[in-house]
Amino acid sequence: MSHFKAPPKKNLGQHFLADRSYIDRIVMAVNPKPGDRLVEIGPGQGAITFPLLRKHGELTVIEFDRDLITPLMEASEGVGRLTIIHKDVLQVDFSKLAGDEGPLRLVGNLPYNISSPILFHALEHAGAVSDMHFMLQKEVVDRMAADPGSKVYGRLSVMLQAYCTVTSLFDVPPGAFRPPPKVDSAVVRLVPKPAAEIGIADPALFERVVRDAFGQRRKTLRNALSQVCTGADIEAAGLRPDARAEQLAVADFVRLAQFLGSLPP
Ligand code: SAM
Repeated sequence: MSHFKAPPKKNLGQHFLADRSYIDRIVMAVNPKPGDRLVEIGPGQGAITFPLLRKHGELTVIEFDRDLITPLMEASEGVGRLTIIHKDVLQVDFSKLAGDEGPLRLVGNLPYNISSPILFHALEHAGAVSDMHFMLQKEVVDRMAADPGSKVYGRLSVMLQAYCTVTSLFDVPPGAFRPPPKVDSAVVRLVPKPAAEIGIADPALFERVVRDAFGQRRKTLRNALSQVCTGADIEAAGLRPDARAEQLAVADFVRLAQFLGSLPP
């Protein structure tokens, strides 16, 4: 008999993965190794949790829905060591959770209504995270992984690719979930880059440059960035002031922000 009786809650983005083949593909993509510290965000009724727990023996999950806590605990009996954190994931300090026992591997079929805040929250703790495997709306994954020149290349692509290696792994249709969401989904892997490789001294300035550049997508860099710098600055950073944001590689944004950061105030 199932431990889980409460109906899915729309406000918590509850779309439970029900297709075994996609569950297996996620577990294969995560491919846990002995000693890995797996943390699942939003275990729900345990679609991914229990296959991972069977394979790995231990797992920490973060779930906000109080109706799922006891059923998850009961269903884990005899399967493995499940640690449940009953909290809003946005209130969980991943750096504290990692402590000095090594970085975390985050996994989750995320609630789509707050997937971007969760992503940026995880990135704030990137030093405590070795990788992430997330199910998200396909449209969001496409934007995250887009290359320059693509229609969907934008602020999200640059902000994520500057800090992580982003790989779109596979798509998942609505029919794989109960209840089915209205949109297609996809699984993405994010691997935070080492700080030395990122090369961004002033993250706030970098974010500002990227935001302004794409805020005025159709404008030239010179016009879009007029609040931040001059055309001469853009040229001095080795870029064309008449280029548009979507033509710039991630490394170009990094170079521009680094150059602007090096100018006297
Ligand atoms: N992993 C399960 C699966 O694949 O079937 C459930 C995925 S469901 C899309 C998202 C899960 O995240 C739900 O269990 C929901 O209760 C949980 N959730 C929603 N908001 C949350 C939050 N702020 N913090 C932690 N968990 C949350």
